[in-house]
Amino acid sequence: ECILFWHRRDLRIEDSVGLHTARLHTPKVIGVFCFDPQILNRDDMAPVRVYYLRECLADLQQQYEQAGSELLILWADPIQAIPRLAQALQAGVYWHQDVEPYGRQRDQGVNQALNEQGIVQRQFWDQLLHAPAEIATKVGQPYTVFTPFWKNWSQQDKVAPYPKLENCTKLTEIERQVVQNAGAIPLPSLKELGFDWPGQWDYQPGAEGANNLLAEFGRSAIYSYQEQRNFPAILGTSRLSAALKFGVIGIRSLWQFTQDCLQNFPGNESVIVWQQELAWREFYQHGMYHFPRLATHSHRAQFDDFAWENNQAYFQAWCAGETGYPIVDAAMRQLNQTGWMHNRCRMIVASFLTKDLLIDWRWGERYFMQNLIDGDLSANNGGWQWSASVGMDPRPLRIFNPNTQATKFDPEAEYIYTWVPELRSVDVPQILSNQITPLERQALGYPEPIVNHQKQQQLFKQKYQLIPRAG
Ligand code: FAD
Repeated sequence: ECILFWHRRDLRIEDSVGLHTARLHTPKVIGVFCFDPQILNRDDMAPVRVYYLRECLADLQQQYEQAGSELLILWADPIQAIPRLAQALQAGVYWHQDVEPYGRQRDQGVNQALNEQGIVQRQFWDQLLHAPAEIATKVGQPYTVFTPFWKNWSQQDKVAPYPKLENCTKLTEIERQVVQNAGAIPLPSLKELGFDWPGQWDYQPGAEGANNLLAEFGRSAIYSYQEQRNFPAILGTSRLSAALKFGVIGIRSLWQFTQDCLQNFPGNESVIVWQQELAWREFYQHGMYHFPRLATHSHRAQFDDFAWENNQAYFQAWCAGETGYPIVDAAMRQLNQTGWMHNRCRMIVASFLTKDLLIDWRWGERYFMQNLIDGDLSANNGGWQWSASVGMDPRPLRIFNPNTQATKFDPEAEYIYTWVPELRSVDVPQILSNQITPLERQALGYPEPIVNHQKQQQLFKQKYQLIPRAG
């Protein structure tokens, strides 16, 4: 008996419920990853994300080797390619479920094709500590506010990590021929996939890289996370978002890690705050699962009619990090150059785009997806809807003043100096209050502020007040 395990956003062989279950049935567990042209060709695909994905696959191939098996690569529509490969190998197919509308629709297609051909298949929830159906209000409804979600979610028992895949049986020579005929190819290079990533990503992709980040975070930053997580010049967060997006590290292992940290420092608030971030991730994924319309619309439907101004020139300046607001520009340049942006800065630039520039949050959401190494529909969409005040868990209307944010969270302007080098000769107080004279700006080659924050926020509030509250 042979089982094909179809990898998607679970690029690891450790702490994987589906792989573990497959291995309980048979030693012949073969991995497969299918490059889906529909995903690769999307106009919101970031080269840095494809780079990270490809490197993780190269690493995963080695891990499969060590487990005595192999990871096959396909590049085709999975609805045809997966059943074809399964049929050729006479194998069953296992995979982990997803929350995204496209993924669910694709899975249904594969599911149906496999059923028609009488191929055994099984699906599992793996990327979440709790599947969407496990967390509901007393009346069985999904939560749309985070705090009660967290209360419920944090009280539920969590499953321990699953053991690593090992001692598998390889394909025979004949089977290898068969899989090649069924479309298996060597792992394409980034260029062959049609992408190029000239920038830098400081962290090693793959399981070892993710585990190194976790170990580093566990040495000290996690214990001061509550105090330090908002300062973009400090390495105060885990930087595990890309690893989590692609499932390079298992969520149960991360939970176990937090439990170990709490054993070392019982009741440590910072560890609990970090657990809450993992819960935010699940909150948004549950939201996407229950309300697929979120992918394209505001959760608060009345905001679909909001009178965004959508000024193209403002948008271009925001994308390029040329708005004349130092903290906004620093953040956008960090994104453009590295494919990652600190969470505090994501909130600042999202507030600026929507509330100062009056641009539809979906424009920002798309630009983020086009550039983020960790770009993830649920987290990104959730973050943007939250920042634009159109989503689940609507806080009191929150408009970030970029200068106040910079003063609070980059008090030495260290982050700004790093990413906006033309301002390095300007004094800290001047930068933080953004009181740089037109003459100085001209001399430094740094733009005038494209809008006036005070004026724009008034304008936003006027438009916001026209929207009915209900719903
Ligand atoms: P840590 O602070 O170490 O947090 C640990 C993990 O928890 C993260 O890796 C992430 O998986 C999860 N997490 C943390 N905060 C959030 C959150 N607010 N929502 C959901 N999950 C969270 N995160 C993404 O993974 N992909 C995105 O595309 C994305 N887009 C965002 C867009 C906007 C406008 C905003 C405000 C936030 C967005 N986030 C996104 C959430 C957050 O900014 C990143 O997860 C975080 O900065 C990643 O850094 P880290 O791994 O060091 O996080």
